[in-house]
Amino acid sequence: MSDLVRKVIALSIVVIAAGLLWAGRRSNSDADDAKNDMDTTIAAAREHAASSDPRLKGAYSFERGGWVYVHLEGDPSAIGFQHGYVLAQEIGDAFPAVSGAMMHSTKRAWPFFRAVAREQLWPKLDPEYQQELQGIAEGLNARTGSQLDVYDIVALNSFEEVPDYYVPWLDKQSKRANAPNLKSPGNCSAFVATGSWTKDGGIVIAHNNWTSYMDGERWRIIFDIQPAHGYRILMDGFPGVIVSDDDFGINSDGLMVAETTISQFEGWDPNGKPEFMRARQALQYAGSIDEYARIMLDGNNGGYANDWLLGDRKTGEIAQFELGLKAYKLWKTKDGVFYGSNWARDPRVLKMDTPQFDSNNLASSPNARRVRWEQLLNENKGKIDVSLAQQLLSDHFDSYEKKTQANDRTLCGHVDTVDRGISIWNWDPFYPGGAVQGKVTDSAMAKNMELVARIGHPCGEDFLAKPFLEKHPEYAWQEPYLRDMKAGPWTMFQSRALAGEERSVD
Ligand SMILES: [Zn+2]
Repeated sequence: MSDLVRKVIALSIVVIAAGLLWAGRRSNSDADDAKNDMDTTIAAAREHAASSDPRLKGAYSFERGGWVYVHLEGDPSAIGFQHGYVLAQEIGDAFPAVSGAMMHSTKRAWPFFRAVAREQLWPKLDPEYQQELQGIAEGLNARTGSQLDVYDIVALNSFEEVPDYYVPWLDKQSKRANAPNLKSPGNCSAFVATGSWTKDGGIVIAHNNWTSYMDGERWRIIFDIQPAHGYRILMDGFPGVIVSDDDFGINSDGLMVAETTISQFEGWDPNGKPEFMRARQALQYAGSIDEYARIMLDGNNGGYANDWLLGDRKTGEIAQFELGLKAYKLWKTKDGVFYGSNWARDPRVLKMDTPQFDSNNLASSPNARRVRWEQLLNENKGKIDVSLAQQLLSDHFDSYEKKTQANDRTLCGHVDTVDRGISIWNWDPFYPGGAVQGKVTDSAMAKNMELVARIGHPCGEDFLAKPFLEKHPEYAWQEPYLRDMKAGPWTMFQSRALAGEERSVD
């Protein structure tokens, strides 16, 4: 560690300690009351001033079914400013949870992530996305006076690729002593079907997001983005992040996109471009499956390596694009189904990018869910539609033990219920994680820029934080961030919201 880094870390600790001290000393004294009044006045003045900022023109948001829908439009700087301003409260809430988890798993302090953002990620970003990220920091600051700057926001955007892909690569390169055992995550269950597999012959695409409940409960934004350049986007997403990141989205040229991560992937290319930018760029600019693949391959850094499930409603064609770092493969069909549950399929990707993954262990979460997808999709061939897809995302059948019980092997994951955890992703026993929300759309809905989404476990069960933490003190470090994750109803969203439902930001 350099002296400078040491100093920055030491200084951060002093600042945090001073903050805690200040918080601990807060009392109801007159002086404090006066200060609080002043803070409120300043905050109100700041909010009022910012609400007349021309960059906010056209933005709006509303809440429905547990989701926060936000409409953003304009040039990159305006889209960012609107994002930061409208979602200031959600970003302020999500940032400590995400950054806390990043520091906890990697055993690295926040200045490390800021340095990675500034020195490695930022120079690889296209100006368009630099402006958008800068806009997020400015909008956030304008609304709440937040001290987070653009490098904090870039680091937040990298939360799926830096801690679990870059850091293990770096630890290995630098032979870091006592390096934590970091593994790439396994996120999500998803499928895309077309032709004789679906009820109406069009495309049906469905996805549930697997993550920690701590993050998942905050993964509740529906972004409707109308950029100055590229296609209109409707996607789910995370506060402060420019890409869906779990991922699920559609664009106005007919692309339908989902993914599941590749378990036990290893590798990183420091010369590549951040995955969070490429995935956003692909949804914004690709009008075909091939264009989507081309954008993802351009500057592939290996971060957040995924099996992309794609559909093009214009042609009825679907694809699976397995994007490793050393190898990749694209399969396409106009009559078939592709599904994912965190396993690689191509022999070259398996051999070169996931050397540790055991495809034959049917007790493991990815393989048990693969078996279940095969069963369910074959049983329902020709019957698949949006409402059936919702049921499939909620499925609780354990294909290994051959019984119904929500756990780590079921398409709707509930890993907090099992004492084995998921070791290949470093999820310890009773890890509070699993399927945290679900989304579905089909060709007809995508034509109208519509999707349905359910917050919480797709099956509708609630997760309650207090009893969980009482039973599992080993997760006490999550207590400041872990909240109840209550399921909402399946809720319809359309990129042109109905009149009267908008909540103006000013
Ligand atoms: Zn469930």
